[in-house]
Amino acid sequence: MRLLILDVDGVLTDGRIVLSSDGGQIKFFDVRDGFGLVLARQAGLKTAIITAERSRIVTFRARRLKVDWVAQFARDKAKALRRCLAHFRIPAEEAAFVGDDLLDLPVLTRVGFSAAVASADPEVKRRVHYVSRLPGGRGAVREVIEFILTAQGSWPKILGRYLPHA
Ligand SMILES: [Mg+2]
Repeated sequence: MRLLILDVDGVLTDGRIVLSSDGGQIKFFDVRDGFGLVLARQAGLKTAIITAERSRIVTFRARRLKVDWVAQFARDKAKALRRCLAHFRIPAEEAAFVGDDLLDLPVLTRVGFSAAVASADPEVKRRVHYVSRLPGGRGAVREVIEFILTAQGSWPKILGRYLPHA
C-alpha cells in the first residue's frame, strides 16, 4: 500500500454531528487516529480524505493532520477516487480505503485493500478485506494503520522510534 484514503463521518468521527441553533457543527475526532496518520506518513504512505459532506471542520482537521489530498462534497465517491489516484499516480491496487456506509462501497470494491470500522453498516462490513475491532471515531483508523504497517513489515521500525535505545 502506498496510499491511505479515509472517509470522515463515521470513520474519523463517531458519526454524530452536534448541531447548534445557529447551524454550527461539532464533530468528535480521536487523537489516536490523528497520531496514526503521523505514523502512516513516517512509513511513507500518502494520505487522502474523500467525504460526501462539506464542512470547515474537515478542512481544519485535514490541515492539522497534514492530509495530502482532500475531496469534500464528493457525492460520487468512485469519481473522487479516480481523481485521487490520478493526482498521486498510484494504481487502485496500491490504495487502501476505510469506510463505514453504503456510499463508500463504490470505492471499497475498487481499491487493493478495503477496511470497514466496527460500527459500519453490515452490508459494508461483509464486503471488505478487514473489519476493525474499534468503532469509527474511537481509534478504528489507528487500528487499520497499524494493521497495514504490520502487514508491510514497517511497524517494528516505526515503533522503534518511540522505544528507548539499549
Ligand atoms: Mg461515513
